[in-house]
Amino acid sequence: MRIAVLYFAHETVTFLRNDTTLADFTYEGSPARREALLAHDARSYMGGFVKVAREHADVELVGIESPLWPRTGTGSGWITTEAYETLLGRMIADLEANGRFDGVYLALHGAMGVHGVARPEADIARRVRAVVGPGAFIVGTFDPHGNEDEEFLRHADMAFTVKYFPHYDSYLQGERAARMLVRAVRGDYAPKTVTVKVPIISPTVLQWTGASPWMDLVQRALTWEAREPDLYANVFFGFPFADVPDVGMTVQVMTNGNETLARKAADDLAGWAWRQREALLTSTKVHAIADGVRLAKEAIARGEGPVVLADHSDRSGSATWLLKEILAQDLSGVLVATIADARAHDTLKARGVKAGDPFDMEVGGLVDESAGAPVRITGTVLNAVEGYGQLWTVVQFGRGNVLVLSRYLIQVQEPWSLKALGLDVTSFKAFAIKSRVHFRRGFDDSGFARTILLVEPDQPFLGTVHLDGLPYRNVDLRKFFPYGDVTFP
Ligand SMILES: [Zn+2]
Repeated sequence: MRIAVLYFAHETVTFLRNDTTLADFTYEGSPARREALLAHDARSYMGGFVKVAREHADVELVGIESPLWPRTGTGSGWITTEAYETLLGRMIADLEANGRFDGVYLALHGAMGVHGVARPEADIARRVRAVVGPGAFIVGTFDPHGNEDEEFLRHADMAFTVKYFPHYDSYLQGERAARMLVRAVRGDYAPKTVTVKVPIISPTVLQWTGASPWMDLVQRALTWEAREPDLYANVFFGFPFADVPDVGMTVQVMTNGNETLARKAADDLAGWAWRQREALLTSTKVHAIADGVRLAKEAIARGEGPVVLADHSDRSGSATWLLKEILAQDLSGVLVATIADARAHDTLKARGVKAGDPFDMEVGGLVDESAGAPVRITGTVLNAVEGYGQLWTVVQFGRGNVLVLSRYLIQVQEPWSLKALGLDVTSFKAFAIKSRVHFRRGFDDSGFARTILLVEPDQPFLGTVHLDGLPYRNVDLRKFFPYGDVTFP
């Protein structure tokens, strides 16, 4: 059994001005092919897929030349047509050159935004199908932030989407994709899928599955999978910062040849989400930045630290609103990680910055209005570390504060990851970070932080919870709860 493995993933914030370019996908190790591709992301979708596929002695995996995640992370806008066509063209050419395949695994994300391509993941499946023919089975894995409708499954056979946010089960979904692909190729599973769009659009910061009602939505999908053998249920929460026609929540259910059952489960999940729509959008409190910093001070004074101040809305990584307010309210013992600033980064790198250097620079801001104005920081460099394709400059300033400067947007997910920068994470009273929900993995679910405060600036900037402040061109918000008078089903 020959299985081709392809990877093409991005979560595109189409409202960002900096396009995602061919150069962003091209770096040491990317594109990757053969064993290098199969060994990528060992703890995630790919790792799970490869592990289970190789439990079958007759399975041969072929890693098709594929770009890895762009080095801009989630901090870049529309993928250029040049990047998409060049990279996908190479993938298709490598697929064609490698003979006949019984199955294909597409490691995707689902929230890719490409200039001129309305539904990129479906387009990838369509072009792969044209090569492998109608007899092969195609399976995809997805992030719950994917924006998908029925189009992907028109060209592919199966999809497995992560259920939790933070995305704890990506390895598990990779394992399932492999097991079901092998069964389908052997004729032991005949995928029947039903897709239902639910007209709810929600900012990602509200989608934490560690609390109700999002937790209950996950549980309902798990219950369907538990009670019906061979049933698989996907709930895409959707990614509202991509201005694409298939935005919003989506339910998919797959069964072994039983369309009636797939329809029943999909309608149940979609109907439940719709009935809970009000609660889904109001369960999370987001504070204005000044209020958040004040509440942080109060929590620290009550001994309820460490505190996380998460500016969830910053999509460029360069926003300085929270840093500015920390200075204005004289919060002390704060780690600010990170402020992204390409210009400062390149200047420091060219200068050969090192521990002990005095530091006096304007940092952050400027990339667009959502980033605000640069902030002058005066202090001492504690450390300068190269890693993940950028230089991390650690600066001590004020009363026990530390700033980490990076080149790209960084979502700090685990406090312990900061140890690599030479920091003692137990010494801080507060952490000012740029993350929506992923930080809960290491700061909240782990029990590390005692107080969590989500903040955003007053203006409806591009990562805001106020989606009606965003300049959508391909999405009519009035067709979605809570922005229109929508009926469902
Ligand atoms: Zn996600």
